[in-house]
Amino acid sequence: MFTSIEGRAVVVTGGTRGIGKGIASVFARSGARVLITGRDHGAGKAAAAEIGAAFVTADVASKADCERVAAAAHEALGGIDVLCANAGIFPSARLADMTEDDIDAVLGTNLKGTILTVQACLPLLKASGRGRVILTSSITGPITGFPGWTHYGASKAGQLGFLRTAAIELARDDITVNAVLPGNIMTEGLAGMGEDYVAGMTAAIPMRKLGSVADIGYAALFFATDEAAYITGQTIVVDGGQVLPESPDAVS
Ligand code: NAP
Repeated sequence: MFTSIEGRAVVVTGGTRGIGKGIASVFARSGARVLITGRDHGAGKAAAAEIGAAFVTADVASKADCERVAAAAHEALGGIDVLCANAGIFPSARLADMTEDDIDAVLGTNLKGTILTVQACLPLLKASGRGRVILTSSITGPITGFPGWTHYGASKAGQLGFLRTAAIELARDDITVNAVLPGNIMTEGLAGMGEDYVAGMTAAIPMRKLGSVADIGYAALFFATDEAAYITGQTIVVDGGQVLPESPDAVS
């Protein structure tokens, strides 16, 4: 039985839909007080009302916006115990055709955005005395590859490079830094990849189904519990076994 996280102050970036909304919902249902962020004000307000969370419009690629999120968390929640740095984008572009803007957009949101988010929230996480940082990385980059995602894979692997040193730097403050590595999770963003993509992925997963956003939420919740206080700098793959097969025959 895990200790309750009732009343904990939780911030989820990119919490307006998809995995972030799933993480925020799991924490809210567990009694935590939650603040979500995203760039789309209307969608954010609607998601916040559904979850029972506070909402701030903010772009993780902007240092000023990240600082506004921390200030809003201080005002709305009185601090931050758990920071879920989840906001991310995954536009597809083959290496041969990729523009500098494509690279800047993906690294700016997924990697720089992670660093800026954690940096801005640090004073509140330190004040918590039991701060938890939980990154949403991916199997793509750290473990696997997929055509069209060289920049995305680099950003997701880069998050883990950030995590390992951040975990050391923040250990003295009793802040843990861990990451969830989702496989293919059914979200609005993933649906945008098209039916062929989804069918191909489903066929490659030993469990023969995509994951749900709650599957990621529960993994994040575990890292936030008191029982996980001595785990830092680590990753957990949540993918229905997708990284396991050595060849397509292994899942046929
Ligand atoms: P999604 O459905 O497209 O949702 C993305 C969320 O991030 C939205 O709330 C979006 O809101 C927000 N966001 C995007 N850019 C932002 C920015 N610059 N600043 C603030 N918020 C921003 O995507 P998802 O599938 O849930 O993915 C969420 C995370 O999981 C990403 O980090 C992704 O890399 C990771 N992931 C997803 C999968 C999967 O299968 N779905 C697998 C592995 C990893 P706005 O657009 O309003 O800003």
